[in-house]
Amino acid sequence: MSPHTPHYMVIGGGITGLSAAFYLQKRLEAEGAPFRISVVEKSEKLGGKIHTLERDGFVIEKGPDSFLARKKPIIDLAYELGLEGELTATNPKAKKTFIVRQGKLHPMPPGLVLGIPTQWTPFMRTGLISPLGKVRAAMDFVLPKRKKQTDESLGHFLKRRLGTEVLERVVEPLLAGIYAGDTFKLSLKSTFPQFGAMEQKHRSVILGMMASRKNVPEESAHLPQSVRHSVFVTFKRGLKTIVEGLEAALREGGAELRTGVGVTKVTAAAGDGSAAAGGPAKVVFEDGHEEVVDGLIVTTQTYQAAKLLDELPIAEVLRNIAYISVANVIMAFDRKDIPFELDASGFLVPRSEGLAITACTLTSAKWLHTAPDGKVVLRCYIGRAGEQEWPSLSDEELVELARRDIRKLLGIEASPLFSEVTRLMHSMPQYPVGHLEKLADFRAKLSAAMPRVWVTGAGFHGVGLPDCIRQGKEAANALVDRIES
Ligand code: FAD
Repeated sequence: MSPHTPHYMVIGGGITGLSAAFYLQKRLEAEGAPFRISVVEKSEKLGGKIHTLERDGFVIEKGPDSFLARKKPIIDLAYELGLEGELTATNPKAKKTFIVRQGKLHPMPPGLVLGIPTQWTPFMRTGLISPLGKVRAAMDFVLPKRKKQTDESLGHFLKRRLGTEVLERVVEPLLAGIYAGDTFKLSLKSTFPQFGAMEQKHRSVILGMMASRKNVPEESAHLPQSVRHSVFVTFKRGLKTIVEGLEAALREGGAELRTGVGVTKVTAAAGDGSAAAGGPAKVVFEDGHEEVVDGLIVTTQTYQAAKLLDELPIAEVLRNIAYISVANVIMAFDRKDIPFELDASGFLVPRSEGLAITACTLTSAKWLHTAPDGKVVLRCYIGRAGEQEWPSLSDEELVELARRDIRKLLGIEASPLFSEVTRLMHSMPQYPVGHLEKLADFRAKLSAAMPRVWVTGAGFHGVGLPDCIRQGKEAANALVDRIES
């Protein structure tokens, strides 16, 4: 009888799943024993939220568009795939960002890091915050640190340290781009744990932020020289570059990439006393067929993972993670129809402004590779927690709302050359207060019930692309360690 070749399966072909499969392959190849890897993706395309569209010379991102350069996992992966030469930086001439206040664009004061002021003079001069609001923010220097170390909401933390104005007029609109969330529901420990750590170490989050900025040059040491000056980085041909790179590496290593194949259930394989013994898992597919695998990594959205693991009471933890739906409207124009200098990356819209859009990126000003000469592309964002009525509108109505807002704020009257509407339903996970503890409980109970199943992805420990890659890699190593131990 020929020896059994261990079969590892990854469910979900987004960046987390592809990274998990890549690092599984790398590790198992290094160990030298035979193995089999399959990636199973419900939709017809790999990449999940990543969706680059090339149209008429434009490079259009329908989902994520870039990532934080200082986060190593994605840069490491770019090197491992030989793609570091494809990285590109933001246009240094489009550094300015604006925030809307009473229907007008105000420049964001220099030195704001994640909305926290780190340079006091520009902050004192900004028209975004009232004199009283500035005095309230300055109280952060003297307010005592919180005694309790338990989780709290991001909104509660920021209001406590910096006051309501800074929270509502600056930080919340900035963070809306990352979570589209209600800051009073988001967990501080799961979203910006560094804020809480700074308060504990420096008492003041402003002082903590100032101190942490001093480390920036060291933090960029891992980046190729060409992009070292940039806070955000992407790929010249779009983010699909990393998806295609992963796909090519996986195929070359013999992995099976199955698209258009959905999974409906995951259980411990019956009849072998498997659960307690750490035995295999059974995967049931949409067409009814079943496969038994030796190791399984689930990287779907958490509400999908909850359905797959429905028989486990602990799946409740995953089911309870809410997701917000967002849309974006991409519009292309002739340069001559844009009545201003393209020297800014975009603007943010606080809730109180009552506009339809939550932000706008002047995409081709920020990223020079995204539009052909003489053309401009911009992207408007719609939808956040508490603003979830937009799905009932048609694409045409969403374009009209976005056009109304940019006419008002930017004076763009022209009709777009073309527009692209992307609806990302239930796409932004909202980590609730206490998220980390609940996940720890989930992991412990899942490992007792199905030791060869690992669940991860953007709904767990970080939504950014680098965080997803890190989680995919951690999942691969943790699962192999467990199986081989
Ligand atoms: P997903 O990409 O959601 O992949 C999960 C996959 O699982 C999907 O392909 C899905 O089809 C599949 N699946 C689901 N159920 C099943 C099933 N039953 N069987 C088989 N397959 C299944 N991050 C950044 O770093 N920079 C940005 O600029 C940025 N912008 C963003 C903009 C938007 C509009 C959104 C929504 C997110 C953005 N993010 C950004 C976050 C980042 O894009 C996501 O967190 C990340 O792509 C999620 O990757 P993932 O693999 O965990 O999940």
